[in-house]
Amino acid sequence: MPTTLDQREEAPTEARTPHVRIGILGAGFAGLGMAIKLKQAGIEDFVICERDTGVGGTWWANTYPGCQCDIPSHLYSFSFAPNPDWTRTYPNQPEIKNYLAHCAERYGILEHIRFGCEVTGAEWDEADRLWRVHTSQGPLTADLLIGAPGGLSEPSSPDLPGLDSFQGTTFHTARWNHDHELTSRRVAVIGTGASAIQVVPQIQPIVEHLDVFQRTPPWIVPHRDRPITKFERRLYRRFPALQRLARAGIYWSRELLVPGLIHNNRMLRMIERMARRHLEEQVPDPELRARLTPSYRIGCKRILPSNDWYPAITKPNVEVVTSGIREVTPTGVVDRDGVEHPADTIIFGTGFYVTDIPLAKLLRGRDGRLLSEVWDGSPQAYMGSAIAGFPNLFLLVGPNTGLGHNSIVFMIEAQLNYVMDALCAMREREVGEIEVREEAQRAYNEYLQSRMGQTVWNSGGCSSWYIDANGKNTTIWPDFTWRFWQRTRRFDSGAYRLTAPARRPAPTTEPVTA
Ligand code: NAP
Repeated sequence: MPTTLDQREEAPTEARTPHVRIGILGAGFAGLGMAIKLKQAGIEDFVICERDTGVGGTWWANTYPGCQCDIPSHLYSFSFAPNPDWTRTYPNQPEIKNYLAHCAERYGILEHIRFGCEVTGAEWDEADRLWRVHTSQGPLTADLLIGAPGGLSEPSSPDLPGLDSFQGTTFHTARWNHDHELTSRRVAVIGTGASAIQVVPQIQPIVEHLDVFQRTPPWIVPHRDRPITKFERRLYRRFPALQRLARAGIYWSRELLVPGLIHNNRMLRMIERMARRHLEEQVPDPELRARLTPSYRIGCKRILPSNDWYPAITKPNVEVVTSGIREVTPTGVVDRDGVEHPADTIIFGTGFYVTDIPLAKLLRGRDGRLLSEVWDGSPQAYMGSAIAGFPNLFLLVGPNTGLGHNSIVFMIEAQLNYVMDALCAMREREVGEIEVREEAQRAYNEYLQSRMGQTVWNSGGCSSWYIDANGKNTTIWPDFTWRFWQRTRRFDSGAYRLTAPARRPAPTTEPVTA
């Protein structure tokens, strides 16, 4: 493995490099869940590096007006930590953030978190059989690394021609600028995805004028969100089984979508009809309606629930621009018809880096190559977790664990059980190194890709961030979610190489205190 300048510089202070058994990257749903499971198993020797100053990951970072999860509250929580106090059937961002903060406190995780700690690189040290992690707060070493950066954590903004010349204010929905007053402004919102359709109805009443730049119309279905009454909340508190029942009902009703999503897209026509009716009811102008009607099968991109998106974009102070963006000028945005739309604020609701996650550019495996080089545009892992050539590394919410229809928390919990079982196997066999076999990883991914052809994500006629630079769907789990749970229920040691006695080099390192 090439020696980096960093390492050379660190060499003299090696003796003082803090060491942990497990390093977790990220304190979002997945990282916190992992920490809770470790605690529950009596493992205390771990640290979480979190670049932000609070817990919650994407739910900490996304504070835009109207930010809400489109998965029902009862299902969008850990199964082992139900929250009877959700105030709405679909949770809004502050409530999710508070829920996660509460979990971190309740399970004693806070003391393990280093906040404001950005990981800037990590490489597997073949000689010492540990990960050398570089962070903004100094180096540390870990026997095992668990990457939980979240699939939607790095905002992506397009590099529009002329953007540098813009004299107004720009920001991304995921980095909302709360100091920038929008009242009476002329605002351009770029994108019409999940975030934009929540922001626009919130800001439309206060801005002077709003131009919404739509590249592809989303499918919008009626939203079933409603307040949860105090009576219901009392019931859930008094009879937790009721909430478990509600959760199960939501889970299974969502699984009913899977056959349509993966086998027979025509089964989704019923939902398409519902969405068209919704559009007809809310947008009277046929010309605008035509521009808002998607030409791809519903489900190909995320199905978005909203009752206030269409009403907002049909208000007199809103224009929906669908001809595309030619350039940005110092004072506005010019569309492809050459019309300039004056603006003093540009808000990007343009999504995230998903198939090219920044973490992949930071991790170096056994042969010194970066994970991004190994992946070469197509992320792949075994069970969305383990990667050949990267020993003692597990990813959470890794490749092909994303969902278009159900709660990602379910997938996270399945992965947590898998990792915990792997740790058990390591302890029982007294081994210190674990690495998935390349052939197991290849077979698993060939199987996944063989299922993709018929899915709505691959054949639904849209382009989406589910598909990577090489045209592969390396984002979505193409099956019932309970099948993923089934596959990850037990650690399948046959797919792995478990080697090297569980030894630690003499304790030249200090334990980490966060
Ligand atoms: P997104 O769904 O990826 O939407 C990005 C939008 O920006 C799309 O309309 C896209 O158009 C447009 N866009 C991207 N680049 C553009 C360019 N160069 N010029 C013009 N338009 C451009 O991003 P998001 O809304 O942030 O949501 C991302 C994901 O986060 C969601 O799918 C969901 O999983 C999650 N999320 C969930 C919720 C929720 O639970 N309600 C809320 C927010 C986010 P095209 O469609 O043509 O690519």
